Amino acid sequence: MKILWFRRDLRVEDNPLLSVEGVVLPIFVFDADILQTLDLSDRRVSFIFDSVMKLKRKLKSMGLDLAVFFAKPKEVFSYLSQFSPTEVVASGDYDSYAVQRDMEVSQILPFRYIYDTYIFEPEEILKSDGTPYVVFSAFYNKAKEIFAAKHLQEHHRGENYMFQFNCDKLYHLSESNLFLMQLVIESFGFRRVSYEIEPLDALLDELPKKLNGYEHDRDFVSLDATSHLSVHLRFGTLGIRELLRFLIMCMKEGIETEAFFRQLVFRDFYAYLLYHFPYLEWENFRYPFKGIEDEKRYRGFCEARTGVPLVDAGVRELIATGKMHNRVRMVCASFFTKDLLLPWQWGEKFFAKHLFDYDAASNILSWQWSSGTGVDPQPYFRIFNPYLQAKKFDSDALYIKRWIKELENFDVKDINNEDFLLQTNIKGYPRPLVEHKKASMEAKNYFDECLKS
Ligand SMILES: Cc1cc2nc3c(=O)[nH]c(=O)nc-3n(C[C@H](O)[C@H](O)[C@H](O)COP(=O)(O)OP(=O)(O)OC[C@H]3O[C@@H](n4cnc5c(N)ncnc54)[C@H](O)[C@@H]3O)c2cc1C
Repeated sequence: MKILWFRRDLRVEDNPLLSVEGVVLPIFVFDADILQTLDLSDRRVSFIFDSVMKLKRKLKSMGLDLAVFFAKPKEVFSYLSQFSPTEVVASGDYDSYAVQRDMEVSQILPFRYIYDTYIFEPEEILKSDGTPYVVFSAFYNKAKEIFAAKHLQEHHRGENYMFQFNCDKLYHLSESNLFLMQLVIESFGFRRVSYEIEPLDALLDELPKKLNGYEHDRDFVSLDATSHLSVHLRFGTLGIRELLRFLIMCMKEGIETEAFFRQLVFRDFYAYLLYHFPYLEWENFRYPFKGIEDEKRYRGFCEARTGVPLVDAGVRELIATGKMHNRVRMVCASFFTKDLLLPWQWGEKFFAKHLFDYDAASNILSWQWSSGTGVDPQPYFRIFNPYLQAKKFDSDALYIKRWIKELENFDVKDINNEDFLLQTNIKGYPRPLVEHKKASMEAKNYFDECLKS
């Protein structure tokens, strides 16, 4: 018997796990180590639970099933070893937790990793001297050069049969004790919460209409110009190859797809970097900037009380929905690491706690990009002005007013005017925590001092 371990691939369509032949036991593990770090009403757990149940129904309709566990992965595989499986097959992540987890499982049972989550395998794109790329444009050129039919290949179901196993209950393992529980989210102590994730079919229906304008429109925060596919890509309810085949179809119809494809390669690039440079999860790629551990400033940011409207709007949206537009993420992260001079690792953790599409590689490398400490040649002293960003990308302040009701009745030109905000008492809304011009000067001085020492 072979164990098919579903993780970031919660679908039956084009899933290489299902091409495994012979007697199989598909499983999903609600990882007790991860769950214990989350809020009991984390909306992502409800989404994952629903996706797992949908996957289970689909597998059942194919004559298979899904055994669901709530335990530490090590305990699951120690338990399952009594059935003498010949291997565990899985695809997945490159972050340190995942790498360590898989290493521990491979000490219990033979473990086979299959590539599914990204377009390219991490060893596929290397410089002529065999070292990894660290500049995106060079990585992208190489990616386009080697992109071939195999990267679009659809995986079909192999000849496989369900191992006899009672899949009706939730298998809760704790300190080697087994408890068979009802298969409901409450069994692992979580509350069911509502969430808004648009169904995949509707998003794919809309995508062709967005693609032609994507390159220009994607930065405008009130235009619904991006795909909203990140959550589906994160949990594998949409496979990357299916999305690529969809793009090829659009391209054949004369639709512009390059700018969108480039972002998908960005997603690959960030996972690739984490794979080749695991230390990036904690450490800067370049420059010894640590940031200043100022709890008061940090609280102001997390409570959406920086007094900078675009930043606070972003944080409020994030806390309320788990979502945030890419441009707003960039503005928030720049403000956090430059104007507030806080350590990027703190911001990364805050986003990790709330982002619905949280993905270690994309989040960590994006924070490093924003703080100027990552692989990008972007100079560290380039600092976003959040007021100019708002003027350009939220010119009617529609986004800001949606999230900051205290500013609803103010004129757009006042909302984007730092002097006005610094001098005016606005009921219920704080004055800016820092003055942008002064804060950016201080940041530049701090960076210069760090470079000297
Ligand atoms: C500080 C910061 C933190 C971020 N954290 C995450 C994260 O945890 N998870 C995550 O998926 N993305 C993250 N991003 C990247 C980006 O903001 C989201 O992927 C995007 O907003 C998702 O919306 P969408 O699906 O409509 O994107 P679209 O614009 O429609 O893009 C299509 C897909 O391409 C990928 N993509 C797009 N932009 C990027 C990018 N800059 N980097 C990597 N992949 C990209 C995503 O998978 C996305 O779904 C972060 C960006 C910043 C600046």
